[in-house]
Amino acid sequence: MPKRKAWQGHAGEALDTVDQFTVIDCDACRFKHIVPIPTPAELEHTYGHEYYSTTKPLYIERDLEDRDWLNLVYSERYDAFERLLGLKRRRLLDVGSGPGLFLRHGVERGGWKVKGLEPSTQAVAHSHTIGLDVTQAFLNEETAAALGRFDVVHLSEVLEHVPDPLGMVKIAHGLLDPGGLLAVMVPNDYSPIQSALRDGCGFSPWWVAPPHHVNYFDVPSIQRVLKPRFDVVSVDTSFPIDLFLLMGDNYVGNDALGRACHAKRKTMELHLARAGKSGLKQAMYRSLAQLGVGRDVFVIARRRGGRRARRSGGK
Ligand SMILES: [Zn+2]
Repeated sequence: MPKRKAWQGHAGEALDTVDQFTVIDCDACRFKHIVPIPTPAELEHTYGHEYYSTTKPLYIERDLEDRDWLNLVYSERYDAFERLLGLKRRRLLDVGSGPGLFLRHGVERGGWKVKGLEPSTQAVAHSHTIGLDVTQAFLNEETAAALGRFDVVHLSEVLEHVPDPLGMVKIAHGLLDPGGLLAVMVPNDYSPIQSALRDGCGFSPWWVAPPHHVNYFDVPSIQRVLKPRFDVVSVDTSFPIDLFLLMGDNYVGNDALGRACHAKRKTMELHLARAGKSGLKQAMYRSLAQLGVGRDVFVIARRRGGRRARRSGGK
């Protein structure tokens, strides 16, 4: 019998316990998350003050180091938004905008009116030095009220960190005009590759990282979080970097090796782009997404509401 654990209204199979937090496959939420769930105040303290200075000291520098590759990744995202939105809808909010590279990409591309929300003092200061409109805040009901309306809300590496992802998706829905897009990227955890490493190679679940990672989504469960309010338009995964672990390059806890593996992946994607084969890359990753394989899941979903009358006719 699998062990179960219950905490407040949450209950499900207990999967792993790390630092007194247990990951459960929650029956109520229908995605995996830790219990106890940290309070918003505990998390706000972490991200406003500690995260960039202690947990991720090199984050800003590394984003700069990755710039060519990130420009490729970001241009593909803006391409998708422009394809889906038509010609005139160009207002974007990036929640958890970090050092502002995604926003800056939109500005440099031209035509986009972009705004960021970011809790870290350091990252906001950096964003201001490059001329971006970024407010130091978390996204919640109160801060959302002052933001205005958008055509795209970008939530990249956010929903795994928050105590109430369904609540955040609801707020994002309220910020979008009808037909607007929510773009979400989260780690793809408890994936088939991770299971193989655990069951066949003796790896412990290194991806479990409480309290920073509260939620552990996969390809189906992130879509379940969006579907009550959005129509899923596309589901992609990113390169399954954990294949390197299966090939014997154990980068877990070895940062230099992790960077080397990441560099190979960047090189491969940049070479394909240079050859005009980014479409092939995207098709490969989309196929992997159907198998549940890939390090992150990237979903674009369209806001329902205001167009309900037309929904019965297809898509
Ligand atoms: Zn739950």
